[in-house]
Amino acid sequence: MEKKVYMMVGPTTIPQRVLNAMNVESFSHRTDKYSALQEKVTTNLKKIFNTENEVFVLTSSGTGAMEATIQNCFSAGDEVVVPTIGKFSDQYAHMCELYGLNVIRVPFENGETADINKVMEKVTPKTRGVFVVHNESATGVFNDIEAFGKALKDTNALFVVDSVSGLGGLEVKMDEWNIDIIFTSSQKALMAPPGLAFLAISDKAWAYVEESKFPKYYFDFKLAREHNKKNQTLVTPTIYTLLAVNESLNIMFEEGLDNIYKRHEENTQMIIEGVKRLGLALFAKDEKFASKTLTAIYVPGKSKEIVKALGERGVIVNGGIGALAEDVFRVGTMGYVSKNDVLLFLNALEDVVSKIN
Ligand SMILES: *Cc1c(COP(=O)(O)O)cnc(C)c1O
Repeated sequence: MEKKVYMMVGPTTIPQRVLNAMNVESFSHRTDKYSALQEKVTTNLKKIFNTENEVFVLTSSGTGAMEATIQNCFSAGDEVVVPTIGKFSDQYAHMCELYGLNVIRVPFENGETADINKVMEKVTPKTRGVFVVHNESATGVFNDIEAFGKALKDTNALFVVDSVSGLGGLEVKMDEWNIDIIFTSSQKALMAPPGLAFLAISDKAWAYVEESKFPKYYFDFKLAREHNKKNQTLVTPTIYTLLAVNESLNIMFEEGLDNIYKRHEENTQMIIEGVKRLGLALFAKDEKFASKTLTAIYVPGKSKEIVKALGERGVIVNGGIGALAEDVFRVGTMGYVSKNDVLLFLNALEDVVSKIN
């Protein structure tokens, strides 16, 4: 096969137009030219976040944004509730523990979505935050963020959402869904190189920022807000990644957000049906909560072999992570993935499955 098919879960494939947008002379982040770029990107991102809140630009991967939420909105000893459904939500709980928060984990089995009633049983007037991963990239399962937002609306808890593998591929309505903090990063559904995270903060969360006692500088939200008034950042950002995200957003608004979400759903549905036709199983226990930006396929003991065999056929997908490394492989529909890519993937998978069984 001469054409390669890239269906990765992050970093995702970068469209040629986006690569070309970075092929420019260097310029300073203290210029009007830079400010115009940042203003355009954050204005467009507000439409993807569906928020009136400002969107901030952080130079870091997604994990930096995770850490920033803890540093800025909480203090040691604060009680927080974290439903864990896989590697990324486990990691968020772990990071909160490292900072000395009083973390109440609500664990679910890998492959399950978080049961909101079980999580709400742990939320009391003392709860300062609930951290939910929108789309658990390790297990290919999403959480119902809208329903969580409804349940948490009149509580004292900040609703913090890691949508690193969601935003741009899954519809999000920050304001309508009562989300207090939500973030993503450049290298997933936004089809750009790694290097930037984007984060928005509600008025309720700003009050918590005022109370937080942790020291911080690089990720200080108040400093970010000062600089954002001039459409700048505290320190030198990854300007080239911002150029790339700007072009990605141009492409996304040309296609239309509703069309993008529909394409992610349709491509995922084709994969799910194709995989079942080949006699393979989804890792998600309930198909209703199977992620629309990546599909995790359960192949006990055979993940590495399958990923390698697909690679030999020009189809680039990802293996499992952590405890699932041998048993799950993951195929991304995130970002720049077409229906034709899905068909080529399914053809290659059929060939691979017929040879290894
Ligand atoms: C990719 C990802 C992250 C962050 O990963 P980085 O490598 O730090 O960008 C966080 N959460 C989820 C759900 C992810 O998919």
